[in-house]
Amino acid sequence: MSRRNPKVGFVSLGCPKALVDSERILTQLRVEGYDIVPSYDAADVVVVNTCGFIDSAVTESLDAIGEALAENGKVIVTGCLGKRADLIREAHPDVLSISGPQDYASVMSAVHAALPPKHDPFLDLVPPQGIKLTPKHYAYLKISEGCNHRCTFCIIPSMRGDLVSRPLDEVLIEAEKLVKGGVKELLVVSQDTSAYGVDMKYAPREWRGHSYQTRMNGLCEGLAELRVWTRLHYVYPYPHVDDVIPLMAEGKILPYLDIPFQHASPRILKLMKRPGAVDKTLQRIQKWRALCPDLTIRSTFIVGFPGETEGEFEELLAFLREAGLDRVGAFAYSPVDGAKANALPDPVPEELKEERLERFMEVQAEISAARLGRKIGTRQQVIVDEVDADGAVARSKADAPEIDGIVRIDDGQTLKPGQFAEVEIIHADEHDLIGRLVA
Ligand code: SF4
Repeated sequence: MSRRNPKVGFVSLGCPKALVDSERILTQLRVEGYDIVPSYDAADVVVVNTCGFIDSAVTESLDAIGEALAENGKVIVTGCLGKRADLIREAHPDVLSISGPQDYASVMSAVHAALPPKHDPFLDLVPPQGIKLTPKHYAYLKISEGCNHRCTFCIIPSMRGDLVSRPLDEVLIEAEKLVKGGVKELLVVSQDTSAYGVDMKYAPREWRGHSYQTRMNGLCEGLAELRVWTRLHYVYPYPHVDDVIPLMAEGKILPYLDIPFQHASPRILKLMKRPGAVDKTLQRIQKWRALCPDLTIRSTFIVGFPGETEGEFEELLAFLREAGLDRVGAFAYSPVDGAKANALPDPVPEELKEERLERFMEVQAEISAARLGRKIGTRQQVIVDEVDADGAVARSKADAPEIDGIVRIDDGQTLKPGQFAEVEIIHADEHDLIGRLVA
């Protein structure tokens, strides 16, 4: 029998949540003794983890499958687009198997059928925290699947179903393993982090001899025990979010909230089927900032939603000015195949959408620049992502990887990726900061 390990090529597309799925599959493959190889040529079979969220992602996924088939010939498809098997089969009838997101078992049995595992897997080659695709010092921690909301522009609930939370002890054990493996920053992700545990009726779970409720607050209390950076993504501005602000003020979790507000006109929010109490949202933001002045709020918005009038767009700009959010991403509305919003009347013409997006970004650039400018002269703890001859690229507590800004440290050549450092901020623009090391 050949001593050669069976070899699997892996293509991972999509959002951070899909990346977590890829990590799980890769971990399992390594546990069973498969080698992960970086080229189609060297692989015996290729797994493509797809994304199906927007039309361009569907095209990208179908192209990736086509490329893998042309280059290798043996292709297993999984991930979000797997829910639309007919679409895949129509474009690529020769794929070996198709499964949906989180269906690790189907992926593994397809791999086993195409490429039987060796009998003596190199178990100890697998680090206990699993194989990670993100840099070693930060990791995504997925706490639930699916979503109970029905935002009209989104098809995630129809693809992933209603909310299913992972029991808190399971999440905390995974987080503990990641931290033992060198992770210094945990990025909590889900479709709606504030809804965590509602499907489990907030069942209490034991971890390290203490009982924690399976809910956002219990999760934060548990993660605080690991003494690394914990960052919360995809939170709704619900009243119980108030409960985690004291933990942020005490430095137990990062003073950072990623809340996709999407719009600020009550009528548009209603059309989007999202909570529309904009005044309450503004009050809540003020209250949070009073309790935790260092709080960074990141959000995303959609401009040019069907029916959006000039007046409603102005309401959105007024909200931006009033809320003074730190970080904002925005998109011009684009229809997603299968979304209810496609049937709404009065679509906004493309040109007008683009014009509004530009105006929106101009307003926000001023706000972000002003908020970052206030940091000049302050000291900030940062985590280092990369180091080269020109210095280090780091992030402050206010910067999530990949989506927010950076802190450039020109005298940071001696730092190491994953290391924490203390810097004084000497310059700011609307996106990034420059700092120098504090001796
Ligand atoms: S909260 Fe809305 S946008 Fe987010 S996943 Fe759920 S339905 Fe989609």
